[in-house]
Amino acid sequence: MADNITFTMIKPDATAAGHTGKIIDKIIGSGFSIRAMKWTRLSKEDAEKFYAVHRERPFFGELVEYMSSGPIVAAVLEKNNAVEEYRKLIGATDPAKAEAGTIRALFAKSISANAVHGSDSNENAAIESAFFFSAREFA
Ligand code: GDP
Repeated sequence: MADNITFTMIKPDATAAGHTGKIIDKIIGSGFSIRAMKWTRLSKEDAEKFYAVHRERPFFGELVEYMSSGPIVAAVLEKNNAVEEYRKLIGATDPAKAEAGTIRALFAKSISANAVHGSDSNENAAIESAFFFSAREFA
C-alpha cells in the first residue's frame, strides 16, 4: 500500500470561517504536494457513507448533520509517510488538546467542528481518495 498519499477535507466550520486559503497554505508550506482537490458539499447520505465506521458512536448523527451543513474542500496530498506526517500537522481530534501550531489548534472550533479531516491509515487514504476522485482527476 502506498505510504506517500493521504486524504484530507477542510470541514464546513473552516470553509465558513474563511480559513480555506490559510489551511491550504499551511499544507503546502509543510511539504505536501496537492495531487487532487475540489470544492464540494456532502449530502447526508454521502456523509453517512464516508463516516460509516463511526455509525455506532454516540456522535454519529451530529457528525453527519455537521459534515453536510456547508461546503468542504476534499484533497489528496502527497509526501513521504503522508498519513503520519499529516496527522502530526493537524493535531489531536479535540482542538483543546491539539499541540500549538497544528491546524486544529489554529483553526478548529470544537471536537466536532474540528477544521480538517486526515486519513488514519494508508488503506483508508486510498478508500477515501477514491470516494471523491476518479483517476483522471489526479495531477
Ligand atoms: P479524527 O481521526 O481525529 O478525525 O477523529 P475520529 O476518527 O475519532 O472521529 C471522526 C470525526 O468525528 C472527528 O474528526 C470529529 O469531527 C468527530 N468526533 C470525534 N469525536 C467526537 C466527539 O466526542 N463528539 C463529537 N460531537 N464529534 C466527534
